[in-house]
Amino acid sequence: MSATVSTKHPRGLYVLFFAEMWERFSYYGMRAILLLFLIDNVRGGMAMSAAEGAAIYGLYTASVYLLTLPGGWIADNILGQKKSILYGGSIIMLGHVILAIPGGAGIFFLGLATVAIGTGLLKPNISSIVGELYPEGGARRDAAFSIFYMGINLGSVLGITIVGYLGQKVNWHLGFGAAAVGMLLGLIVFQLGSKKYLAGFGEVPAKKEETTESLAKSGSDRKKGYMLAAALVVFLTILQLTGSIDMTTAQGLAQGAGVIIVTVSLFYFLFILFAGGLNAVEKKRVLVLIVFFLAAALFWSGFEQAGSSLQIFAERHTQRTIGTWEMPSSWFQNFNGTFILLFAPVMASLWIFLSARGLNPSTPVKFALGLLLLGGGFFIMEMAASQAVTGDLVSPLFLTFTYLFHTIGELCLSPVGLSTYTKLAPKRYVSQLMGIWFVAASLGNLIAGLFAGNFDENNVEQMPDLFNQVALFSVGFGLLLLIFYKPVKRWMGGIQ
Ligand code: GLN
Repeated sequence: MSATVSTKHPRGLYVLFFAEMWERFSYYGMRAILLLFLIDNVRGGMAMSAAEGAAIYGLYTASVYLLTLPGGWIADNILGQKKSILYGGSIIMLGHVILAIPGGAGIFFLGLATVAIGTGLLKPNISSIVGELYPEGGARRDAAFSIFYMGINLGSVLGITIVGYLGQKVNWHLGFGAAAVGMLLGLIVFQLGSKKYLAGFGEVPAKKEETTESLAKSGSDRKKGYMLAAALVVFLTILQLTGSIDMTTAQGLAQGAGVIIVTVSLFYFLFILFAGGLNAVEKKRVLVLIVFFLAAALFWSGFEQAGSSLQIFAERHTQRTIGTWEMPSSWFQNFNGTFILLFAPVMASLWIFLSARGLNPSTPVKFALGLLLLGGGFFIMEMAASQAVTGDLVSPLFLTFTYLFHTIGELCLSPVGLSTYTKLAPKRYVSQLMGIWFVAASLGNLIAGLFAGNFDENNVEQMPDLFNQVALFSVGFGLLLLIFYKPVKRWMGGIQ
């Protein structure tokens, strides 16, 4: 991204950049120390088992992404994006203030839920105003999104560094509270800047006119929704009564949430495929979206272990001292944000370079590359874990290279996925399908949490196998996509 491109952007982009930067400061700062706090039993943490802590980590991160669905809906129908961002940011700040109080489990979970609700309201809406700033779409919009992605990762690096340090080296609650200060700064910038530079964008939506037809349709949609919810309640009750899932435990709750997310996504896709009034071309595109949904969920389920199993590995098995100074283990999560800041411009230029020569890989190939790189990173972790089982602390280079692979993978899959979802979605379903993209991230986070529950301190011998399983799954799916990329590309119907 060159300076000449960035100077041409409206000032409003930078207002959004700073607000999102502080929101991600809060999210990633929180995520950096969450699991460590939950399993800590010496510095005033919650003294949970790895399985319980990791399940809560999964539930929290999954809820953040899942709550973007109601967050987007509220903005579209009631508040407009700008107000949603303002309220969302204020709720996040309140959540961090609650978390700063060392008041036991009740207060802690209240704070956690508050932050998740605020993030759900803020996150999807800030990206949609970025899009709104560039109604013509095209290369300028792509460039704007890559500047915005920098804001995301700058916030992540600052958050992990500051919250991670304060939480791990000083006091957990000081760490959680620091994010409140960050969010306050973000809100001030947003409030001042949006008045001036975002006038006319993300305003309160005009009241929709209700015709008898639209009322009948929303009534019948609501009925289907109630039926699905009732069926889910029955299904979960059966799972509970037969002992398949025990929802009185954190792991059981996370598994229950997984069942709900998978079922709702499945029904949603079936619904738009068979009752969404789509033509043949649109149906094929929705099938492609299903393939990308599965690939993205799998990708995030490995990638988001950054805050779960990889965090545990950094804490317990990685050599982190330089001279007499010991690096906080949460700082390893910084490799991702830092590599993004370094490599996002390189990857963007690579795609442009390849396009100019007609060699730009198609979207399914980029997804496949993302999964293969993710798998590669986990093979490195398998090697690291095989060394660690002997009881030695392993070199930090293992995690460094794993994060490098994962970050390049993310750059192949995530920005491309985001824009492809907006392009392939039938017009009238764009915002819903955008939400479904975040549901894939939600599911991935949940699995990342549940999976890390196996990383038990008393059972370290199984670590290499666990990492190997993730590697095989992602490489397997990546290869399948690579083999079948042609039909997938054909189904995209000319959209790249
Ligand atoms: N790192 C990106 C962000 O924080 C994407 C995360 C995701 O979609 N899982 O926005």
